[in-house]
This record gives sequence, structure tokens and C-alpha cells, in this order.
Amino acid sequence: MGTTKIGIVGCAGRMGLTLARQVAASEGCVLCGGTEVVGNENIGRDLGELAGLGSNGIMVQTEPAALFAAADAVLDFTVPAASASHAALAAENETAHVIGTTGFEPAHQSAIDAAAGRTVVVQAANMSLGVNLLLALTRRVAATLDPEFDIEIVEMHHRHKVDAPSGTALALGRAAAEGRGVPHDDVAARGRDGITGERRPGDIGYAVLRGGNVVGEHSVVFAADDERIALSHSAGDRSIFARGAVTAALWAQGKPAGLYGMADVLGLQD
Ligand code: NAD
Repeated sequence: MGTTKIGIVGCAGRMGLTLARQVAASEGCVLCGGTEVVGNENIGRDLGELAGLGSNGIMVQTEPAALFAAADAVLDFTVPAASASHAALAAENETAHVIGTTGFEPAHQSAIDAAAGRTVVVQAANMSLGVNLLLALTRRVAATLDPEFDIEIVEMHHRHKVDAPSGTALALGRAAAEGRGVPHDDVAARGRDGITGERRPGDIGYAVLRGGNVVGEHSVVFAADDERIALSHSAGDRSIFARGAVTAALWAQGKPAGLYGMADVLGLQD
């Protein structure tokens, strides 16, 4: 297989710039363009320079249709509405779409699911190897322990994050619910304040911290009387997500249309 042409939407964002550096550092692929939202201050600037790679002649532009037509795979860490509209372009051009954006509403997700009928979509709230292992472990521990173990999920992220709980925390909660064989949305306790009453048996609770420049911390706590197990992951640098995204873009080449997750890409299916 030849060199995979990779485009980045939201290329001047925190993840966008990390992705540009990761594509440049990876074998078997080349950066073919990047877009930003109309009005972004970086439009027209050299993406290589913005990413600290030195000039590479790729100017940040605003037209995603042209990017999806030119690329073999597009990496998308933007905002939910943008990713949903990008999904239609991916389907139209049969371009692989790697979606790391979080915070989707059901209507956005439906647009992505529809696109996956026509092209390869890899979607994951967290693209790091470590968190994907943590998801598998969480499912297994939840399936093994009896329901007297209360499950709580704690996450911390930087002060700029706009959605809560994080997509990763929710994915961990879903993995725990799957392990227990219960519908996640029936047991998720996403906000506690004031006189909440006692903890409802079987709930999966979420606690959210925001501050500083924390890239991402997640813990799943299984708490029974006199015994507690905690599974934790700490992200030190965004490059762990970018490595997963580029791996997904390369893996997607030649695969049949469908919606895939990082467990497929990393071969972690149990
Ligand atoms: P950010 O705000 O730094 O970057 C998002 C970029 O998208 C911005 O530059 C913004 O201008 C751009 N954008 C918005 N609308 C656009 C449009 N229509 N077209 C093109 N660009 C557009 O945010 P970030 O920290 O890079 O995170 C982005 C998303 O990725 C968030 O949803 C975050 O939760 C998620 N994320 C996922 C993972 C993962 O592994 N899946 C890891 C880190 C962050």
C-alpha cells in the first residue's frame, strides 16, 4: 500500500497541532492539508510553522469539502456539530474518518452512524492505548465483582475543557455497566449536590474536576465495605491520543465501511 494522505480538520487546535506533529513523525503517511473554522486567526498561516515543524507549505484553509476529496483519511478533533457535518463529506468521498471529538448529542451521533454505512469511521472518546486497556479491565472487573461494590468514576482535565463528564469517563461508565449487564443510562449518577439522599444501590457515580493544564486523569473506583479497588490512567501528553489517531488512519485503509472503535484498531476485543 502506498503513502496514506492524511488531512486534519481543526488543525490549529490543541489536538490539531499535536496531530500535525504526529503525522510528520510517522512512517507511511503524509500530511495533505488542514482546515479551521471560518474566523480562526490561523487561517492562511503555514501549518508546519504553527506546529513547530518548520514551514511545510500547507496553509490552514476553511474548505473541508476539498480536504475530504483529497485525503485518504481525515483526523477530526473539533466540536460535535462540525464532526457531524464532516461525517457526510467522509461518506460522499469514501474517505476514512477518525473522530476523537467528544460531547455528541444523539442527532450528531446519528449523522456519524449514517456515514459509517458508506465509509470507514473510527470513533473513540480516547485514542490512547492505556485508556483502551483500562476500558477492557473495567468491563472485566465489573463483571467479576458482585454488586455490593459501588462503582465511582473520577476524572480531572484542564480548565479549557467544555464537556463534562469527559467522553472517556462516560466510556468507562458504559464499560462498567456492560460488565454488570445493566443499561448505563438507568444507573448513571452524573451530578450530586445538596441533600441527595443515600447512594442508590447499583448506581455508577461520576465526579468531575477541572483545573490547570491537566491533560487527562481517570480513575474507576470499586468500593465495598472494608475493600476498595482503583484502576487509574494518567495522560502526560496529548501525543498519546495523536499516536492512536494516526494508527487508526493507517489501519482504516482498505477496511470495509463501518463504525469501528480503538479496540478494533488495537486488537483488544475480548
Ligand atoms: P481545541 O478547542 O483546542 O481544538 C478544537 C479546534 O477545532 C479549534 O481550533 C476550533 O477552532 C476547531 N474547529 C471548531 N469548529 C470547526 C469547524 N467547523 N471546522 C474546522 N475546525 C473547527 O480542543 P482540543 O483540546 O483539541 O479538543 C478537541 C476535541 O477532541 C474535544 O472534543 C476533546 O474532548 C477531544 N479530545 C479527544 C481525545 C481522544 O483521544 N479522543 C483526546 C483529546 C481531546
